[in-house]
Amino acid sequence: MKVKTRFSPSPTGHLHVGGARTALYSWLFARRQNGKFVLRIEDTDLHRSHKNISDEIMTDMRWLNLDWDEGPYYQTKRLDRYNAIINQMLQDHSAYKCYCSKQRLETLRTKQMAHGLKPRYDGYCRDYNEDCTKQKKPVIRFRNPDEGFVIFEDQIHGIIKFSNQELDDFIICRSDGIPTYNFCVVIDDWDMNITHVIRGVDHINNTPRQINLLKALNAHIPIYAHVSMIFGPDGKKLSKRHGAIRVMQYRNEGYLPEALLNYLLRLGWSHGNQEIFSMNEMKNLFTLHTINKSPSIMNLKKLQWLNQKYINALSPAYISKNLQWHMEQENLDIENGPCLEDLVKLLGPRCHTLKEIAETCHYFYEEFNDYDLDAEKKYFFTQLEVAQKSLQSIRVKLAAILNWTLLEVRNAINASAHEQFGGMRTLAMPLRLAITGSLKAPAMDITIYTVGQIRSLARINKALLHIQKYKDQ
Ligand code: GLU
Repeated sequence: MKVKTRFSPSPTGHLHVGGARTALYSWLFARRQNGKFVLRIEDTDLHRSHKNISDEIMTDMRWLNLDWDEGPYYQTKRLDRYNAIINQMLQDHSAYKCYCSKQRLETLRTKQMAHGLKPRYDGYCRDYNEDCTKQKKPVIRFRNPDEGFVIFEDQIHGIIKFSNQELDDFIICRSDGIPTYNFCVVIDDWDMNITHVIRGVDHINNTPRQINLLKALNAHIPIYAHVSMIFGPDGKKLSKRHGAIRVMQYRNEGYLPEALLNYLLRLGWSHGNQEIFSMNEMKNLFTLHTINKSPSIMNLKKLQWLNQKYINALSPAYISKNLQWHMEQENLDIENGPCLEDLVKLLGPRCHTLKEIAETCHYFYEEFNDYDLDAEKKYFFTQLEVAQKSLQSIRVKLAAILNWTLLEVRNAINASAHEQFGGMRTLAMPLRLAITGSLKAPAMDITIYTVGQIRSLARINKALLHIQKYKDQ
């Protein structure tokens, strides 16, 4: 049977890293086995599902390059199919209508708990539901086997065994006529010929119920793999504080899809000690049984580290394309400075994210009015004369360059440093501050070379005026 996996989000919340990782594992497994990957939107919870969220989930998956071969299927468009099966199950008595009132169920529950028993439906309506038919709309329950066990081999957690006595006759259709999650999933996995169900471990308790249902329908039973949870660094459930944000927010924060995918892959899966995987390696090496059983811990520092690796490893042309959006967010006119590829080469080695590149490159594209306060105090005002002398000296040298090349700029800096009392030490910081407004910049020669001759001279003049003004106060 050809491998077929699916990712089946409920559009009740954004795609977060947990869901994205599950999608990635399902997608990789399908790609690795030359199989198919299905996208299914589980939207039968009508109150909590939103069309715009399913659209956003797809946008985010596209950004991650997780393409699907079939779908999106929407469960709400398959209600006829579900109802047909429910009717057939009612006829063959593998399902039954249940008229039990909320109150009865509540009393039952309280009694069971008082006796130290796990609350479960007692099957009251299995055979005696006719009396109440006029009273209210029924729910429909699956007649779960009373005895025996459900045993399956989870590809990550090994053999898992549930006693049927612990499972009750769960509801497959609500009183409003909408089938439940556990039912729709089963029919879909069956109809869509899903061979491997890779999903979050929070669904592991649903699996024995779904297997019983599949058996009752004489359907094939897929192979299951339940992927463990992701926790924050404090060991608590991942929350917004830990970075449990919409996947697209990572794009906004300046991450590359390649880096996020690589990070998610390693967050719970390993291949020896290898950290960096090209897309092809991911597809060729991925296996289910090397997924970690224990929960994973989200580590933003590692994601940043990976992102920086990718910024510097992928082609500057590709990085520039991704950077463009961030430059627009910063309102920078990219015509007014170095081309983005040069910018990536310059700032890539110093930045962890594209956002950081865009945020720290302003001085290449526009003039600034203020200097970093601590830096100006330290390098302009405290050693006022030294700063003035250094800047005056480099101004002469830079102005004298006829052919503006990196080498000429470097020679000018070296010559000027040579003239200073403190050498490069007294020149470097005032110059850096004069040209960029702060102390965070790449090497001075390449920075000045990139800013250009006219602009650099103008900025040195401006800094000298600024120092003079302070002196005159
Ligand atoms: N719709 C479920 C969820 O978003 C996933 C169900 C499944 O994969 O079986 O958690």
